[in-house]
Amino acid sequence: MSNAFVPVPALLEDIVTETPTIKTFVLRPERPLPFKAGQFVQLELPGLGEAPFTPSSDPREPERIEITILKTGLVTNALHELEPGAILGLRGPFGKGYPVQKLAGHDVLVVGGGVGLAPLRALLYHLYAEPDAYGRVSIRYGARSPEELCFQRQHEEWVAREAVDFTPTIDRPAAGWKGHVGLVTTLLDDLDMDLERTYAVSCGPEVMLKFVTWKLLDLGFAPERIYLSMNRNMSCGMGICGRCNIGTHYLCKDGPDLCYADIKDIPYALG
Ligand SMILES: Cc1cc2nc3c(=O)[nH]c(=O)nc-3n(C[C@H](O)[C@H](O)[C@H](O)COP(=O)(O)OP(=O)(O)OC[C@H]3O[C@@H](n4cnc5c(N)ncnc54)[C@H](O)[C@@H]3O)c2cc1C
Repeated sequence: MSNAFVPVPALLEDIVTETPTIKTFVLRPERPLPFKAGQFVQLELPGLGEAPFTPSSDPREPERIEITILKTGLVTNALHELEPGAILGLRGPFGKGYPVQKLAGHDVLVVGGGVGLAPLRALLYHLYAEPDAYGRVSIRYGARSPEELCFQRQHEEWVAREAVDFTPTIDRPAAGWKGHVGLVTTLLDDLDMDLERTYAVSCGPEVMLKFVTWKLLDLGFAPERIYLSMNRNMSCGMGICGRCNIGTHYLCKDGPDLCYADIKDIPYALG
């Protein structure tokens, strides 16, 4: 049996620059690393440290894992300086992943902010792989500026799909941008979905998750139909170190995607 504390060596095969601050790292682990959409891994940069990330790639390809990373501090800055050919380490996967069984047979509203679209991209691969199993997929995505919209190379492909709609927005007006302007919550104002048969799944900065959740509740979504990716600092990934709990829920073991109904009565659960 493999030891969950020991990373699997992984070759950094390619690096795709998504935005000025976000890159996708294409990794080939020494052995396939099966994961479900929404499960996360600990990525180790030998000699420096490790950090948790949720793969953004197709869960049907466990031998080739893509991780999309915003440059924000010690480990992520160093990762952004790497060249293909480096050897990194992967531990995991950890967590439960998205509640795909619950989503089956329902419409899905996907709400992303910034690099928060990365974990949701793995979910989109899952939903697209079985179009008959799910209803309509509606994607609402916000970034600070047009340059910071992640996965621009795929937006056209997403829009072209049957039963999928995709609307991006940027926070402030920008030269040449003809699309929507305003925070991602403003894209929910004209939502045309049957709330009785829709699940909402959101990922982004915590302040965004809070306002998206409040907006969804205002619109009439039941707490049971709202899922949020709570990507807080965590360390072991296995419910041992006690750094990531919300009430009795360990984000690493029970999440990182939690149902709002399960945390709504916990004080300051949304910060
Ligand atoms: C389950 C999970 C999945 C994640 N998936 C992704 C992903 O797919 N892509 C991605 O870019 N990031 C993701 N993150 C966030 C990522 O783990 C942090 O950005 C990373 O740990 C920062 O490490 P660092 O050493 O570069 O920054 P540090 O030097 O440790 O910190 C720099 C700054 O980033 C803040 N920070 C550190 N960790 C987090 C965090 N978890 N959330 C928000 N702010 C943080 C710190 O407070 C500080 O302000 C995920 C986090 C979790 C818990």
